[in-house]
Amino acid sequence: MFERIDYYAGDPILGLMGKFAQDSNPDKVNLGVGVYYDEDGKMPVLECVKTAEKRIADPVSPRPYLPMAGLPGHRKGCQELLFGKEAQVLKDGLVATIATIGGSGALKVGADFIHQWFPQSKCYVSDPTWGNHIAIFEGSNIEVGKYPYYDQATGGIKFDEMIAFFETLNKNDVILLHPCCHNPTGVDLTQEQWDKVLEVIQQRELIPFMDIAYQGFGNDMDSDAYAIRKAVDMGLPLFVSNSFSKNLSLYGERVGGLSVVCPTADEAERVFGQLTYTVRRIYSSPPSHGGRVVDIVMNDDALHEQWVGEVYAMRDRIKAMRLKLKSVLEAKVPGRSFDYLTAQNGMFSFTGLTPEQVERMKDEFGIYMVSNSRMCVAGLNVNNVDYVANAMAEVLKD
Ligand code: PMP
Repeated sequence: MFERIDYYAGDPILGLMGKFAQDSNPDKVNLGVGVYYDEDGKMPVLECVKTAEKRIADPVSPRPYLPMAGLPGHRKGCQELLFGKEAQVLKDGLVATIATIGGSGALKVGADFIHQWFPQSKCYVSDPTWGNHIAIFEGSNIEVGKYPYYDQATGGIKFDEMIAFFETLNKNDVILLHPCCHNPTGVDLTQEQWDKVLEVIQQRELIPFMDIAYQGFGNDMDSDAYAIRKAVDMGLPLFVSNSFSKNLSLYGERVGGLSVVCPTADEAERVFGQLTYTVRRIYSSPPSHGGRVVDIVMNDDALHEQWVGEVYAMRDRIKAMRLKLKSVLEAKVPGRSFDYLTAQNGMFSFTGLTPEQVERMKDEFGIYMVSNSRMCVAGLNVNNVDYVANAMAEVLKD
């Protein structure tokens, strides 16, 4: 009966992690998966989260179903973080926000909503992008195409080609954008480039869908949301999916949000209703523990401030690792520029290693990266950065 079911080859990044776990090399380094590890190579539990969890645990309380849209404080937390605490668009009731099962859940609910209400729309993702973007939108029966983005030759962005491509798209086509810390390349648009992109989006009446999974890891909480807030200032309709997996280090709790900015409050109410109905048909309501943590941390001034400081400490540690890796490589591989390491933002770096070099890093040194050369810089620490730099220098020599 089930013989005709295709085998699933597994997710390439998660599969790599299985191989890493089995590797007996004592020096092995995991630079594959997009997870932040601290200076000791451990996944941190943020202090603000510990405090919130103590409040949740004492007294132990019943666990009712949450509303389909999640906790109001979770939704408000998403809104204020993305749009700014005093944003007019929030005061005017123009934003429909639901709490979601991570950033992935936000993308899925958004994609299902788009497929139902904009059935002609195609979705365009950056070339390259996080692989699951394509899978999620295709899974919602939306045709997915790619727009020019990363320039292998320069390590920058094919900006003119990208703009020219956007100019060929049809009204209501969806453009999936990374407001900061592009995954997988680490290469972001400048504010001037964002202005131009949004201008074309406005002219061609395209729908921007901004997926922000690393807010706070680029420059700061506000400037990482530049593109989102600029789109709002321009009065554009806008989808935003956000994830708290990385910036609250709450990967397994599955916390995120989906916000849709609408032209009028009436439209926002309609959209909100349909988003909750979409949730009802998929999983009914989100899990409560992570939602309660988000609610507490985002809405308690002291905890919020502590949280921002903790995110910036993670950001700064990653930046220090980029600098260190760059300086060792510059000394070991003269004549080659490693400026890209410090120009990129966030957890990831496209290193430009060939698939063969990535394979050698794994086989000869036990250093695991994604075959497209993406390195998770947050896996580096003072104990392994020299080892990784030396290995990179070694494979780059030949
Ligand atoms: N978008 C991007 C760009 C991501 O990198 C990720 C996580 N890897 C997600 C969305 C999904 O986030 P979550 O793990 O919260 O589902």
